[in-house]
Amino acid sequence: MDKKSIGIFGGTFDPIHFGHCRAALEIKQQLKLEELRLIPCKNPPHRTTIASAEDRLAMLKLAVKNTPLMIDDCEMLRSGPSYTVDTLLSLRKAHPRTSLCLIIAMDAFLGLPTWYEWEKLIELANIAVIDRQGWNMPGSGILAEFFNNHALASKENIIDFTCGKIVLQSITSLDISASNIRLLIQKGHSPQFLLPDSVLEYIQKHTLYSPP
Ligand code: ATP
Repeated sequence: MDKKSIGIFGGTFDPIHFGHCRAALEIKQQLKLEELRLIPCKNPPHRTTIASAEDRLAMLKLAVKNTPLMIDDCEMLRSGPSYTVDTLLSLRKAHPRTSLCLIIAMDAFLGLPTWYEWEKLIELANIAVIDRQGWNMPGSGILAEFFNNHALASKENIIDFTCGKIVLQSITSLDISASNIRLLIQKGHSPQFLLPDSVLEYIQKHTLYSPP
């Protein structure tokens, strides 16, 4: 039988950390999503990555082991820029009647109008925006209008819609970022307790993020 609801949480995960894992788990629980897929971005259109796509995927596999989170490596299998709209198109084709929910943290959501074919995203999936300290939904302008046109008041009902709705979700705020973790390693400091030990062991074994 087809899945009832799938959450999609994309990122560079360079490296994955507890901020990502906790956000994904809380959103899965709060929105009652049947599956939560972490989707590592192979070729991000707007930035570069430090670790290779293979290393970032390997770290993700270690992080989700024995957890309710899953990985979808569909972007790893495509060439060219990893556009979210292409990922949603392929997911929608595979799951025509499933409630799809694209999870985007507020900092990323504020840049949504710069994403390739961004207006198509809401025709393919719902969107859950993660509220993050220091980042606010604009009161006016194109994004405020976009949000108001699609906002769903009763958040827990989002899985009743296949696409077209936006909810704003609060989660436990963890002030962790991949860039800070990379900086700590560069300085010779330990990032332990900011990310799973298995991921840290992988970073150490493969001397990722260390100065040359
Ligand atoms: P970097 O510091 O390299 O920019 P990052 O830690 O923000 O990386 P990404 O892989 O770029 O990680 O993020 C993927 C998604 O996870 C984005 O939507 C980002 O906003 C969100 N995110 C990152 N860190 C957190 C956190 N601590 N809590 C909630 N969401 C987060």
